[in-house]
Amino acid sequence: MARKAPSKARKSPLPPFLSNPFVLALAAVAAVFAVAMGAATLIGGGAGGGAGGESGKPAPVQQAAQQQGGPHTGGQQAVQPPPVPPAKLEPPAAASQPPAQAATESTGQAPAEKPAHAESRPPATAVAMLPPPAPPSQPPVQAPSGNAALWRRNALPAEVPQGKPIIAIVIDDMGLDRKRSTRMAGLRGPLTLSWLPYARDLQVQAKAARANGHELMLHMPMEPSVKADPGPNALLVSLDRGEIVKRARAALDSFDGYVGVNNHMGSRFTADRAALAPVLGELHRRGLLWLDSRTTPNSAGIGLAQELKMPWAGRDIFLDNQETVAAVKAQLAKTEQVAKRQGYAVAIGHPHDATIDALASWLPEVQKRGFVLVPVSAVVRTHHAGG
Ligand SMILES: [Zn+2]
Repeated sequence: MARKAPSKARKSPLPPFLSNPFVLALAAVAAVFAVAMGAATLIGGGAGGGAGGESGKPAPVQQAAQQQGGPHTGGQQAVQPPPVPPAKLEPPAAASQPPAQAATESTGQAPAEKPAHAESRPPATAVAMLPPPAPPSQPPVQAPSGNAALWRRNALPAEVPQGKPIIAIVIDDMGLDRKRSTRMAGLRGPLTLSWLPYARDLQVQAKAARANGHELMLHMPMEPSVKADPGPNALLVSLDRGEIVKRARAALDSFDGYVGVNNHMGSRFTADRAALAPVLGELHRRGLLWLDSRTTPNSAGIGLAQELKMPWAGRDIFLDNQETVAAVKAQLAKTEQVAKRQGYAVAIGHPHDATIDALASWLPEVQKRGFVLVPVSAVVRTHHAGG
C-alpha cells in the first residue's frame, strides 16, 4: 500500500513496517502489556498481593489515570484499594483517548474491532514508556542564575546611567485598601509595589499596576515583636520548619510577575535566623530577590542573603511613620541624601493619602535634581545581585 512507495535507499532485511521504530516500539509495548495482562489475570485472585507484584502492574494504570485527571486517581485508590486490578486495567486505557476512539466507537462495536483496540494502546502505553514523572526534588539552594533568574525576568526594564544616584521607592501593604492602592498605582513611576498575598483580586490588581509601569513584589507577612496582627497565615517563630515553608510557598504562589519579597512586619521573625533561613532558601531556589524591610536592626535577612549569595537589598528610609505630607517630604529629602552618599537608596512607604500626595509632587521633581528613579531590581542589579 502506501507504505511501499517511500521505501528508499535504506536496505533492511526486515519488512518495511518492522523497520519503523514507532511500530517496533508499539509492538514491544503491546507485548509487555499483554504479558502484564496475563500476569494480572494469573495473580488476580490474590489481589492483596505483595509489594513486588503490585509494583509492576499498577504503575502504568496509575500513570494513565493521572494523565486523565489526578483527583480521580486519589479518590479511587483511597476508596477501593486492591480488589479489581485486572478489570481496572482496561477502562483507563480505553478512556484515555476520547477523540480517536469516539469516532470509531460511534460506528459500531468498538470493543471487538481491531483498529479501535490497536488505537486504544498508544495513549496508555506511551505514558508507561515515559520515565517516571520525577517528583520535584531539586536541591534546596540550586538557584537559576543570570537571565534565567526569575527576578531578572520579571524586572521592569530600567536604565541606570553611570554616576547618577539612583532611588527606589517601594510601596508595600498594597492591595487591601483598594482605593488608595489604585491611586498609588496610578502615579507615574517607576515605583515598586509590594502586595500582600491575602489581597483580593491580587493578580488583577498587580497586573494593572505592572501595566502602568511599576515593578511588583510580594509583601510576606511575618510575626512582629510588638502586639500587632500580621494577617492570616503569617510566618511565626513558633511554627515548625515544614509549616513555615508551606506558608511561605502558599504566599509565593498567590500571584506572579513579581521580582522578590520584602517582609510585612516581621521584627520578631526576621530576627530569628533559624526561622528565616528556610524562607530565604525558598526565595533563592525560585530565583527571587530579598528586600529586607529592616523592621528591626536585628534582622538576620541580609546576612543570610549574603551567605546564600542571593540577590538582596535593604531598606534605607521609611517614608511615612508620620502620616503628613510635610513629614513624608522630609523623609524623601533624607532619601535623596542617602542616595547621594551611597549611590543608591531604597525607601519604603505605604498607600496612605499623605504618602500619595507627597509622592505626586516629588516624583516629577526629583529627576530634575539629577536623581534617577528606578525599580528596586535596578538597585539590586547594580549593587547586590548575588552570586
Ligand atoms: Zn507591611
